[in-house]
Order: sequence, then C-alpha cells, then structure tokens
Amino acid sequence: MGWDTTRVDMNIYSQGKIDRLVYSTCNICSNGCGCFIAVKDDKIVGIMGNEDYPVNKGRLGPKGENQWWANNSIDRLATPLIRHNGKLLSATWEDAYSLLVEKTKGIYKRKGPGGLAFYHTGQAYLEEYYTISKITRAGLRMHHVDANTRLCTATAEWSLIESFGTDGPPACQEDVDVTDVIVFIGRNSNETNTVLWERVLEARKKNGTKIIEIDPRNDVSSKQADLSLQPRSGTNVAVLNGVIHLLIRNKWIDKQYIENHTIGYGQLEKTVARYTPEFVEQITNIPQNKLNQCAEWIGTSKKTLTVLLQGVYQSMDSTAAGTLVNSMHLIMGKIGKPGSGPFQHAGQPSAMSNREVGGAGFYPGYRNNSNPKHIEEIAGLWNVDPSILPVGPQTYIMEIMQLIEQGEIELLWVMFTNPAVSLPNRNKMIEIMNKAFLVVQDPFLSETAELADLVLPTALWGEKEGTMTNLERRVNVLRKAVHPPYNLPSDFEILLEFSNRMGFKDRDGNPLITYSTPEEAFNEWRKVSKGRPCDMSEMTYDKMERLGGIKWPCNEQYPNGKERLYTDGRFHTFTDEVESYGRDLLTGRARTREEFTALQANGRGILYGFDWAPPLEMPSDEYPYELNTGRLVYHWHTRTKTGRAPILHMASPEGYVEINPEDAKNLEIQMGNMVRVSTKRGSIQVPARITDVVKQGSIFIPFHYGTLTENQAANVLTLETWDLVSKQPQYKNGACRIEKIMINEGP
Ligand code: SF4
Repeated sequence: MGWDTTRVDMNIYSQGKIDRLVYSTCNICSNGCGCFIAVKDDKIVGIMGNEDYPVNKGRLGPKGENQWWANNSIDRLATPLIRHNGKLLSATWEDAYSLLVEKTKGIYKRKGPGGLAFYHTGQAYLEEYYTISKITRAGLRMHHVDANTRLCTATAEWSLIESFGTDGPPACQEDVDVTDVIVFIGRNSNETNTVLWERVLEARKKNGTKIIEIDPRNDVSSKQADLSLQPRSGTNVAVLNGVIHLLIRNKWIDKQYIENHTIGYGQLEKTVARYTPEFVEQITNIPQNKLNQCAEWIGTSKKTLTVLLQGVYQSMDSTAAGTLVNSMHLIMGKIGKPGSGPFQHAGQPSAMSNREVGGAGFYPGYRNNSNPKHIEEIAGLWNVDPSILPVGPQTYIMEIMQLIEQGEIELLWVMFTNPAVSLPNRNKMIEIMNKAFLVVQDPFLSETAELADLVLPTALWGEKEGTMTNLERRVNVLRKAVHPPYNLPSDFEILLEFSNRMGFKDRDGNPLITYSTPEEAFNEWRKVSKGRPCDMSEMTYDKMERLGGIKWPCNEQYPNGKERLYTDGRFHTFTDEVESYGRDLLTGRARTREEFTALQANGRGILYGFDWAPPLEMPSDEYPYELNTGRLVYHWHTRTKTGRAPILHMASPEGYVEINPEDAKNLEIQMGNMVRVSTKRGSIQVPARITDVVKQGSIFIPFHYGTLTENQAANVLTLETWDLVSKQPQYKNGACRIEKIMINEGP
C-alpha cells in the first residue's frame, strides 16, 4: 500500500550551503506532512518535504512550503507588553509574570475558579495541551477551559463519541489509496489539505477511484469530481437521510453486521423512510438522478471512504449529520476494513492532540468528566485528591463569552489563537473581550493581542520541541531547529513558569508539575494514556522519528501502532469505557449514566435517526441571499502566519465576496466593484468576484480577513448560534443583503 514518490517539494532561500536539516512536521493543517526545516546560522531559511514520510512522500502544499517566513518576520514581538493608560508598553518578563500571577490569585480569591477562563488552540503541541489540562484542572480547579478546536472540528469529536463511544477517526490515509469510492462532504478538498487532494487524484488515476463531492459550491474539487451534488446550505441531514434511504431500499446494506455490531437500526430506518429522492430534491435542490447515482456508487462499491469537514461541522445540526455518516458506514459494514470507513477530519495540525490529552472538553485519554471512576483514575495518576477535580462538562467558548458579558468571568487567557477575528458575530465578541482582563500569548501583535492588557510573546514552530497528532491518529515529533529570537520562551515554558509561581502542589505537597522538558511531559502522558483508546504508552520521540510517526493505539499489542480502528466490529460503548454518556441530538441535553446504560450498546455502534429541519436563518425579503463562509488555498485561519509569507499574501491580499453572474447582473455589480454585505449582525465592505462557483441566490466570503481597522471580517456577519451537541458555531448558514457601493458614497 501507499502512494509513489514523484517529487520532493522544497522552498529554501539561502546564500551558500545550509548548515542542517531538522526533522519536523508541517504546522499548518491536519494532514501532518513530514518535513525538514533548513537552517543556516541558527536561522530558519526554508523547508523541504520528507520523502520517506508516509503521509506526503516529500510533497508539500503552498501553505506548508511558506510557513517559515513567519519565523523571520520583522514584526515578531520581542518583549512582553503591559497596558498602561490605554497603551501597550514594553515590559520585563518579571513584571509580566508578576502581573499574571497577581491578577489570577486576586480573582481566584474573590470569585474562585469561576472568575477565570482559558482559551487556547489547535496549533500548539501535545505536551503544551497536556500541561494546560493538568494546570487548569488540578491547579486552578476550573471549568472554563476551551480551545479554538471548538470552532473547527468539535463536531468530529462529538459525532464519533455519539456513534462509537469515544473520539478517534476509524480510517486512515492509506485507505485513500485502496478505496473504490471517496465521498467528500462539506470540504473544499483542493484548498484545505492540498497534499491529500493530490493523493486522491493519483488514486483515481491509478485505480479508477470514483470521487463524489457534496458541497454547495461548484469549486475546483467539485468540478474535478466524477459526481458533484450541490445541496442548498444547511441541508446535509436531508442529503444523508436520502442516501441512507436508498441504501436500505436497494438492500445495499449488511444485515448481519447491523445485527451483530449495532443498535438503533429501527429508529434510523423509520426516520429515513420518507426521504425519497423526490422529497430530498424539494429540500436540497439535488436532482433525483444525482442522488440515486451517489447512493448506487456508495452502496455497490466494495470499499467506500467518506471524508468530512467544516461544511458539515459548522452547521446547526452538525453532530446529527456527522452521526449519519457513521451510521451509513455501520449499516453497510464498511468500517474497520482497508479502503472503508468514516473519516472525520480534524482541521488544525494538532487538534487531535488537544482532544487526546483533554485540552478542551474531557479529561486526558478520552476520560469521561461525568464518570467518577475516570476522575478517580486521573486523580491517582496526578496524585491529587479526586474531590478537587471539576466534574461534568466544561464551559465552551461561546458560553465563556456570555459569562464575561455577565461579569462572572473577569480574566480571559488566550493562547495562540485570534478570537477577535475568528469568533462569530465578531464585533459583539470584541466588545465582550474588552470587559475582561485579557491575557494574550502569541508571537505577534494579533488583532486579539491589540485588545489585550497583557501580551506574552512566544516561540514558534521550529523554535521548540514537541509532538502533534494528525488527522489519522499519526503522532510525530517536531524537533527544535533554532533558538527562538530574543530568547523568547515557548508556550510550554510559560505554562511551567506560571505553575511554579502559582505554587500548584500534589497531595503530598510536591510540585504538581515535576517535568521540565517536553519529552519528560510526553513520558508522563504515555503513562496517563495507557489502557485508553488513544494509548501511546509504547511511543517515544526517537521511535516516532525512526518510523515516520506512529498511529495510536501504540501499546504492547501494537508496538508500531495500528492502521485503523474497529477492525473487529467492537466499539468503545460499554458504560465505563465511553468518553461521554452522550447528548440528545436535538436538544443537546446530556444523557445520564443510567440512560446510557439502558441503551445496552455494550460494544456495539449506535445508530440514530434524525429529521432535517430548516436552518435558523433563511433568506427573506430584507436579506435575500444565503451566506456561506470558508477558507482559501493560500491562507490559514486569520493569516497570523500565512499573511506574513510574501507569496501567499500577494496571491490573496484582501477579502472579497463571490457572487453568481445572474445575481451580479440583477444587482448591476461588476467584477471588482465594492459591495456592502449586511446581515442582522452588521456589514462589511469587500470587492465583488463574479463567478459560477456560487449558485444563484448564495454568496461566499473567505473568513481569513478582518483587521481591527479594515471592515472585511466575514465574522462580522455570522450567526452567534451553535450546534447544541458539539457547541460548534454555525458559520455556514445565514441570510444576507448585498448592495453596490456607489463611488460618491465613500467607504
Ligand atoms: S497539506 Fe497541510 S500539512 Fe501538508 S504541507 Fe499543506 S498545509 Fe502542511
């Protein structure tokens, strides 16, 4: 298995021979491409793909190739900044740490842990997340901890938990090479994980693999697909119900697998019964023959792989849609086998690590925060009293914002993420952030850092060591290539210094954190992970480097890792195994332990029936267009890194709106005209791009843009609502108005 090496990508700018190449992984997207960092005179001067690395075989995409420019950017922060009389002024590290500890202790004394919140990232390293998990739970005993993975792929996590008991994608990248049909849902494949998209195209060339794209936009990947379905925004559940309806009607299911390995089939069958192709067409606008073709390819192929991302995850009914994909595979028995399975992707390079070690939402090792046995277990491993560990669900970022607004939370510590651009209804979120004492840990003066009271500058990728897990459970080590400029500390070092100054102790009075290097932290985590689904007990830094990353579980039974999960049809659904007892897909209400036990899943996958309902905000006379937001091939998130790479910046320097040619004609808008796009939340002004990528009646705006002084942030427009199970915001739906800005109207 595997794909062939046809080229090694590199982007090195060095006068004279480089000094060394340092083993690493790309730190942009979840694909986790292996690379070497080129170093000359203790400076990063480029990057080269690792041709032996199984994920990418030497290839890199445009974002990966250009990520290192940010390391050398002239606007790296050199010292901490403290706000005095409204201005951020340079400060010493001693003053910065003293202020952080003084503020934390002061608020803690008055309000307890409820006065504090921590919001971090999917771009840091596993060892940093593990330390956050330990410090916030066992040190500060706090509930208000979340990460920007909430915005990105929290639904992947939750739909896996609901169907299989715990997080963890069952499939892997090798499945791309051997499958018959790949279904992409809600995923601009050519723009997101570009290297994976190349691998998919090669699989088609070699094996005749069929590609199905289900996405409202007719983008490059839809145009290149063998079958493209373009549903209306917010109708994924109806599409999936329609496909499952046809699979059942045509007997393209595996009755024995359903009987032996699942529960809930009756409810699913009953729910999808009315989703005939005619009914689905009324809801989604997908022609019946296309839906029939899609179901036939999925149902009659020997092997099917389904890949999903934000187009599914950032909707009102996202967890339900994610579980329907899992159900589709379960009823066909196409899971845990080469070339088959649901492949719920992470978005960011280490979102998976964050989830594994309990960085946001759960306890480390996919432990259930409502199961006293799991809490006791982790308390034993950390040598703390179980009674000090917070029980029950953590607070999610949008709830954290509400609590700041209400004056409950007084300090918000933001690490390596940029909520001033990335949160929905961003103008309101900026107002809310201004109410808290805002600590921002970031290598740059990001839009959020500009609002901060205290800024802690940090080392970047290549300037620190640690590990990351990619979208297929492959964990790899990233070696330190150079010393950080200005002797900046890493996020890991800041967290350790904070813990030390706060005086966090275990139950014997010894320091809570006893490790001092990332590798020591990883060795502690290995013990904590032992026996859990994401078992990494047999991994070491050197072994990862030797094998080219290792997929968990990696234990005595699988010393070199395991390709795919659930090969025996046995799922993690015994009551004391599950990561959560689950939530009601419609209301989000948490199931009790008794309710979960009563399901009698006991190792079987759980199927759910779920009816489609219209999105909360539909086009109206006042706001007649469907709003869609998403990413571009040249940028990542809020461009903190990619915006500093000259070639990426030049390729796409500013925001814009895609408008269908018919709509543009009706509105008398021409290519490049400035237009105002408005929703009930606010307005932005961007140039128009006239294109058939968007359907008539809908528009698309990339979410990467929006400094505090320019008015281009897509998130000024987005809805402040979320999926009730995963709590992931609903960035993909909304209703908007478009107006041409007349020249004499001014900006
Ligand atoms: S596909 Fe993702 S991981 Fe690979 S080089 Fe591109 S951005 Fe980096």
